[in-house]
Amino acid sequence: MIFDKPITIALSKGRIFEQTMPLLAHAGIEPRDDPETSRKLILATNHSNVKLLIIRATDVPTYVQWGAADMGVAGKDVLLEHGGEGLYEPLDLNIARCRLMVAGAEGARLDGDRLRIATKYVNSARRHFAARGQQVEIIKLYGSMELAPLVGLSDLIVDLVESGNTLKANGLHTLEHITDISSRLIVNRASWKMKHALVARFLDTLREAVSTAAD
Ligand code: ATP
Ligand code: MG
Repeated sequence: MIFDKPITIALSKGRIFEQTMPLLAHAGIEPRDDPETSRKLILATNHSNVKLLIIRATDVPTYVQWGAADMGVAGKDVLLEHGGEGLYEPLDLNIARCRLMVAGAEGARLDGDRLRIATKYVNSARRHFAARGQQVEIIKLYGSMELAPLVGLSDLIVDLVESGNTLKANGLHTLEHITDISSRLIVNRASWKMKHALVARFLDTLREAVSTAAD
């Protein structure tokens, strides 16, 4: 596809980068560097008009919201926490799939008063327990949530689960499924208007790549 205007796409290293590359390849975009080995934060591609920004997963919506990137790839977990302000979320890329779940140690119970919930996903956790009609205390963590119930920091955790192996390795069990998670293409609102033809063509191409990948 032809990129007749400059576009910048924000995404994170690791699973999102790896799983987004085949989709971008479908649109004819190939990065010039590998973010796992390069220290560059702005990656050039085979198209002089297309650049990739390599940033923390949780920062992707912020860059796109403020127009520092036209588009981005972000997990639904991250979008639920960010709130999606200033963004369009036009396409589920169906990559980096996992589930947001409540988990706890052997014998832990979901019901009860004043449960303490350790999580990186404060907003999703608060909303979930509010919907259950439960008052809970949320403890914000930035990683390794599995440790919290083991050392008495919390009764339960809210975390992403893929295979469940990390939970199992720490003697934890899932108690409730909150929502399915996958990564989404997000688009800055001004870019959506100003570069509409290009963005729309790019979306069509990615949509095709996603449906091909599903077959
Ligand atoms: P950081 O490591 O910078 O703190 P992070 O842990 O959120 O950020 P990743 O582990 O690369 O970064 O996760 C990026 C996204 O991939 C998450 O926002 C989520 O949508 C998805 N994800 C996270 N863990 C899993 C998993 N176990 N299986 C599938 N997808 C996952
Ligand atoms: Mg991680």
